[in-house]
Amino acid sequence: MIQFETASRRTHTLAEADPEVAELVTEEDRRQRHGLQLIASENLVSAAVREAVGSVFTDKYAEGRPGRRYYSGCEFADQVEELAENRARELYATDYHVNVQPHSGTQANLAVYLATLEPGDKILAMDLAMGGHLSHGSPYNASGKLYEAHFYGVSRDTEQIDYDELARIAEEVQPKLIVSGASAYARFIDFARFAEIAKSVGALLHTDMAHIAGLIAAGEHPSPFGHADFVTTTTHKTLRGPRGGLLFCKQEYRKKVNSAVFPGMQGGPLMHQIAGKAVAFREAMTPAFRAYQQTVRKNAAVLAEGLSQRGFRIVGGGTDNHMVLVDMNGRTTGAEAEEALRQNHIYVNKNLIPFDQLPPSKTSGIRIGTPAMTSRGLTPDDFAEVAQLMADVLLGETTDGVARVEAICARLTTA
Ligand code: PLP
Repeated sequence: MIQFETASRRTHTLAEADPEVAELVTEEDRRQRHGLQLIASENLVSAAVREAVGSVFTDKYAEGRPGRRYYSGCEFADQVEELAENRARELYATDYHVNVQPHSGTQANLAVYLATLEPGDKILAMDLAMGGHLSHGSPYNASGKLYEAHFYGVSRDTEQIDYDELARIAEEVQPKLIVSGASAYARFIDFARFAEIAKSVGALLHTDMAHIAGLIAAGEHPSPFGHADFVTTTTHKTLRGPRGGLLFCKQEYRKKVNSAVFPGMQGGPLMHQIAGKAVAFREAMTPAFRAYQQTVRKNAAVLAEGLSQRGFRIVGGGTDNHMVLVDMNGRTTGAEAEEALRQNHIYVNKNLIPFDQLPPSKTSGIRIGTPAMTSRGLTPDDFAEVAQLMADVLLGETTDGVARVEAICARLTTA
């Protein structure tokens, strides 16, 4: 029997203390290293972020805000949270108030609603079936159960947001809050236009920049700061931090937002995740991070071009960000495409495309993202090869997909 150990009195490895879990960690590590991780919402954190997340801060309770806690012994928790807050504001060059405590993107969104809405109030957000997120008013999520959700989508012709139509719906619905931001939308989002529309109907504007937060930090996508009243994000997608949420608001909403997060939505903050967020924000302020985001976009553009040349229709006519939405053109369902790729160690997810006739369990499309493999070092030339490899798999024109994936992974020196 191994004695109970703490981080500071450690004599056994995980493998010795718990071989079952250690084995699963090893297997997941192997899966990640020997496959192409192309799920648009995933990325890889640095070793420094992982060390912070695995630190003794996991043991600390720190309900409340820095300097005003409901627990004793928070002097270092206070400092790490303040560091994270200051870095988050610096990263986005904003004077908005920030709260780094939301456990996830969904929690951050729900905190905005809790801070601004009464049950039954109207929100207007992007339809889940057109690229929105569950936490933007889906009937399966608290946001759709508590509030009266109305939706906008994309135009049938361009598969891009039709801002005139959005303005018309906003005028008709008269929502209290408009949500801008998406989970499956590959074109730039015009936050200035959203702000104009929100202002014209007296609505508050909330931007959920979860997918594009890293691009925005690097100046590779227009920023919502200065336009939106609230900005939320996850920290683990393009931003390349640990799993978690982040919430900014104009200073006037500071108190309401803080109390919506705690005690409204959550108990104690995850101080180890906050330490990891602080590290990630520092990394995101470096020139290397800016170069990384430029490559993320170039890689997505090359991927879209390569798939398009092989006859796949790119939803929305192309990509401006880190993701590519592909219409399987009825050759297979998105679910079948996802599985065929998975069998070749290429990971993407099935995704509804605008006006999809198939249910979410099947879908007509797939969503592909470049952030994780760009973190591993893939260049635009590599992505040209990945596009051909994916097309070969999807069209049934290769029998050595696994070996080709292995050859690409073998070239990578990082992660
Ligand atoms: N908002 C958007 C736009 C997302 O795409 C996602 C996740 O994919 C979320 C929020 C939710 O984040 P989480 O999974 O951390 O709750």
